[in-house]
Amino acid sequence: MDYYAVTVQKLIEEFRKMPGVGSKSAQRMAFYVLGLSEEKATNLITAIADAKQKVGYCSVCCNLTDEEPCRICKDDKRDKSVICVVESPADVVAMEKTGEFKGLYHVLHGVISPMDGVKPDDIKIKELVTRLADGRVKEVIIATNPNIEGEATGSYIARLILPFDIKVTRIAKGIPIGGDIEYADEVTLTRAMETRTKI
Ligand code: ZN
Repeated sequence: MDYYAVTVQKLIEEFRKMPGVGSKSAQRMAFYVLGLSEEKATNLITAIADAKQKVGYCSVCCNLTDEEPCRICKDDKRDKSVICVVESPADVVAMEKTGEFKGLYHVLHGVISPMDGVKPDDIKIKELVTRLADGRVKEVIIATNPNIEGEATGSYIARLILPFDIKVTRIAKGIPIGGDIEYADEVTLTRAMETRTKI
């Protein structure tokens, strides 16, 4: 039985594709959009179109940005000798919220996962190694999530960096095993950064 008009059904299906959105939420979002005034709906459409058009990856750290390079890479006050390697742009936001880390980032956009067919070349590892070539970086902090893929990706990167004269550390205590950096609170994340260990 068809509960919705075809166009409404299509809208619900699009929302349903978003991470963490189930059919109930997708329906709620679709009805919300349909209830918007013409102006508000246009604002939403423009925001999506603008973001898609103007936001891309920073050529240095691969974080999402609408300027080139991104604000963090451009900032002269940041310590350019330290790079914190994270899985996603959301992890950069989480780290920045702690206000503790003053170095630069490198966003991998995923982790190596043979199960899901994700190979080292599918994420931004090559770009990281390229950044290390000029010898300015003294430490690379691996801040991938503490699960199997995150650990394996960290070890893989550590092996790649071995030929360089660079200290490689891994954030340690504080982040629960199986937890997500994105969801860690600021105190936990700060402690994890302070107690990072050499790998
Ligand atoms: Zn950048």
